[in-house]
Amino acid sequence: MSQPLSERWRSGAALLISVVALVGIILWAPAEGPAGIRRLIFGEDRLRDPADVPAGGTHAFIDNQPGDPDDPVAWDPCDAIHYEINPDGAPDWMDDPADFVEEAVEIVEHYTGLEFEYDGTTDRRPEWDRVFVPSLGRREPVLISWATEDEVRQLEEDVAGIGGSVAVEVTPGGRKRYVTGGVTLDSDSFDQLDGVFGADDEEGRAIVLHELGHLVGLDHVDSSEELMFSENLGRTDFGTGDLNGLVALGQGDCF
Ligand SMILES: [Zn+2]
Repeated sequence: MSQPLSERWRSGAALLISVVALVGIILWAPAEGPAGIRRLIFGEDRLRDPADVPAGGTHAFIDNQPGDPDDPVAWDPCDAIHYEINPDGAPDWMDDPADFVEEAVEIVEHYTGLEFEYDGTTDRRPEWDRVFVPSLGRREPVLISWATEDEVRQLEEDVAGIGGSVAVEVTPGGRKRYVTGGVTLDSDSFDQLDGVFGADDEEGRAIVLHELGHLVGLDHVDSSEELMFSENLGRTDFGTGDLNGLVALGQGDCF
């Protein structure tokens, strides 16, 4: 029997924060629409620059380009990552869930130099078992939402959140890029952060940052010095290795 979550917090044990890659079938999906045409005319132009960060620490990538473990699959830095928020199921202590998420997104945006664009709230629900089939000209914003383990089985046990993205090949057998993804936060875990540490917003933000790390392509590491450690031992910000990973993930190809 596992202890109730709040007991685990008090005993200094950890809250698991997990990665679930969306079921992405790797399909050929050429660069699409007006952005692709604009780039043909004006050339590549990334939207922002990654941050300067001190070297060090440890990081890992969820997926890498064919034949090169040091070359991660990433989002296109010349295109904004559109995202929507479904605030349904957010904890009562969170005054403005959209604001809360946006602040965390801005941190990831700052380090990666990837631009995120908030498309507003939505009624969409997370569907982690669905197979995503990309099609030309269709854009599916990243969905950031809350759910319970009854709806999203990947949140069972002590999992506080999941995050991941779908990669597609730009040419058959060629380089991959992320095109959509999601972050789903466990409603019960977020409810139970209230009052346990006295800093529920910092703990909650750490979970959101960790899952956003997965969304842009960071995998777990063995070091508890990093926020991408698979359990939260009280760290509330990215570690040096996390930051280096985020910077690397902001330097993908423009497609
Ligand atoms: Zn994780």
